Amino acid sequence: MTSPRTLPRPDKHDPQSLGFATQSVHAGNQVDAGSGALRTPIVMANSYALPDDPAALSWSGTDVPLYTRNSGSNQLGLQRKLAVLEGGEDAVALASGVAALHAVFFTLLRTGDHVVVADVTYEAVFRLFTELLPEKYGIQASFVDPTDPDAVRAAIRPETRLVHIESVGNPTTKVTDVAAIARIAHEAGALLSIDNTFTPPPLFRPLALGADLVVHSLTKYINGHGDAMGGAVIGRADLIRRIKLDAMVDVGGVISPFNAWLIMRGSVTLPLRLRQHCASAQAIAEFLEADPRVAYVAYPGLESHPQHAVAARQFGQGFGGMMAFAVAGDAATQNRFVSNLRVITSAVSLGHDETLIVHVDASGPRVAAYPPAFREFGHLRLSVGLEDADDLVADLSAALAATFP
Ligand SMILES: *Cc1c(COP(=O)(O)O)cnc(C)c1O
Repeated sequence: MTSPRTLPRPDKHDPQSLGFATQSVHAGNQVDAGSGALRTPIVMANSYALPDDPAALSWSGTDVPLYTRNSGSNQLGLQRKLAVLEGGEDAVALASGVAALHAVFFTLLRTGDHVVVADVTYEAVFRLFTELLPEKYGIQASFVDPTDPDAVRAAIRPETRLVHIESVGNPTTKVTDVAAIARIAHEAGALLSIDNTFTPPPLFRPLALGADLVVHSLTKYINGHGDAMGGAVIGRADLIRRIKLDAMVDVGGVISPFNAWLIMRGSVTLPLRLRQHCASAQAIAEFLEADPRVAYVAYPGLESHPQHAVAARQFGQGFGGMMAFAVAGDAATQNRFVSNLRVITSAVSLGHDETLIVHVDASGPRVAAYPPAFREFGHLRLSVGLEDADDLVADLSAALAATFP
C-alpha cells in the first residue's frame, strides 16, 4: 500500500507557487473591491483619491494609484503580471515597444557613453543609435554581429555601459547565445538589455540567463490580438525604479488604462497561443524549405538555421512564430507572390492572431549586415498566426503555383 502523497500547495496569490499557464491567468489580477468583479475593471481615471494626510505621499511615487502618468490601476496590475511572467523583480509598462526601448537608453546612458548594439535590430533602434542619440546626446554605438561573442568582446570600450541585442534578430532570425553575451557585458561592467518581443515567455526568459533588462513590444505576442499598443521593460527593481522615475514620470510615454486592460486580457492565453504559433510556423517553414521555387527560409526551428543548436538549447518549448523567406525571383516576383495569397494578409506588425506577411526589398542602410540570400532576393517576413496550419500551407502553395505558372 502506498501512503498518501501531499503535493506542494499552489496559491493564486503567490505566483511563485504556480506554473506558467496558471500565472498567465492569475498574476496581476485582483477582485475589484468596489463591485466584486473577478477581473480588474478598466479604470479610465487620471487621478486617484489622496489619503487624509497627503504629506506622507511621494508626488513622484509609482507604486500606489495616484496619477495615471505614475501609477494607474490597470497599469499597476499589468506591471505585476509582466514581472511574474519574465521572472523579474519589477516591470514598467509604457505606450509602445519603441517607448520602452527609448526608456532604457534614455535612462541608462549619458553623453560620452558607448553602447554595443546588434548589427541587425528593429528599425527604430538602428535609427536611435545611428542618428538621434549620437547627434543629440553624444552617445556612441558600435554595431556587431551578436552571434560572434569575440566580435562583441572586441567592440567593448572602457566607456561601454550597455549591450543591446534581440533574442531573435529582426528580420534575419539570428539567435544570440545570451548567457555568453551576458558574461562579456558583465566582465566589462556593462549591462545587457534584450528585446524579447519575438520569443516571449514561456519560450524564453533572458533574465534567467544573465540579462539585466528585458524589453517587449506588448503590441505583438503578449497582447496577441493586433488591437492595442504597449511596451514594457522588466528586470531588477533598482533599474526599473530609475526607468519609472526618469522615462515614465518625467518623459511621460505612459500606457493608457484601456490598452493596459486589453493587454492584460490578451496575455491570459499567451502560452496556448504560442504553442500554436510555434507548431504552425515549424510546419510552414518545413513546407517552404522543401519547395524548389523558394529561394531560402530563415527559421530557428530548421536544422539548416545557422544557430539552430543555440536556439534549441535556449528556447526549449518552441522556436516562435517568426520567419523570413523569399521566392526565387526579383522584387516584382516577391510582390506578385504576396498578391496571390488569399488567407495571409499583407501588413506590418507581428504576433497577431492573423498571419501577416510583408515584403522588404534588398535596399536600405542595414542590408550590408544581412545574410547573402537576403541581399540577393530581399525578404518576406512572415508572422504565423492562429489559423489552421493546413489553410496557411495551402494558401502558400496556391500562391506559389499562381506566381510560377
Ligand atoms: C514591433 C517591435 C518593436 C516596437 O514596438 P512598437 O510597439 O511597435 O513600438 C520593438 N522591437 C521589436 C523586435 C518589434 O518587433
